Amino acid sequence: MTEKCYVFNVGSFNCAALADGGSVIGADGILKRFTQASEADCRQAYADVGLSLDEAYSALNILLVKIGGDTILIDAGEAGKPRGGDLPASLRLAGADPAVVTRVIITHTHGDHVQGLLTADGQPTYPNAAYIISRTELAFWQQRIEERAPDQRPIVTMMQARGLRLIDMDEEIIPGVTAVPIPGHTSGQIAVMFESGGQKLIHLADMLHTPMQFAHPEWSPTFDADTSQSVPTRRRLLERAADENALVMFYHLPFPGLGRVRRAGGAFVWEPLAASV
Ligand SMILES: [Zn+2]
Repeated sequence: MTEKCYVFNVGSFNCAALADGGSVIGADGILKRFTQASEADCRQAYADVGLSLDEAYSALNILLVKIGGDTILIDAGEAGKPRGGDLPASLRLAGADPAVVTRVIITHTHGDHVQGLLTADGQPTYPNAAYIISRTELAFWQQRIEERAPDQRPIVTMMQARGLRLIDMDEEIIPGVTAVPIPGHTSGQIAVMFESGGQKLIHLADMLHTPMQFAHPEWSPTFDADTSQSVPTRRRLLERAADENALVMFYHLPFPGLGRVRRAGGAFVWEPLAASV
């Protein structure tokens, strides 16, 4: 168990990055996923940010945001299927409990983001939550369930029974919280922008998976569904994050996955916040 909780504020919003776990994917994992980059280029890109390709790590970072009486979770982790499972303990570190979560916003529907919505015995993990997902992503998910992921159908059924709000990809969810379209990794993936007191946090989910993509935003992993969309999406949102000096969160970067983006030549530099756990 490696529960972790990193508490921070965005204006009047109380936020916590929570660890669900993760795994070392190493050089083999990176090279298998980034087939357009050479091993030498990947090693260099990791070395340039002070990391080792051989120890490349894919984290699962969950965001919790408390706004007035609302407690919002962004994605729900993998629940040990097969990775993750530390989110309940990380929630406790944040002084929270699954019953206090009022809304779960789903950025996209890959298993490592939605498996944690059901407990091991098929009950809703967050008994008092309603669910929010982009209309486009739900359609994408239902097609994938039909074709090759029937085991995920109970998650959709549960969400529909409990209250599922379908949003457009650029819709205000509640005041201060807005969906931002980031298509490419999946067709309906959204980022979530939080704005309070002149401060901004944008959760960019799986728009980027590794620290080497800041210097190489043109590199996409094999699991980006449409790289003709994911590359321009990545450039556009990294530019926006840099220009707006927004705090940024990524789901798979080393915990807590938080930092700021700076422009550097035709690409970007990542300035991670140090994790204090
Ligand atoms: Zn994904």
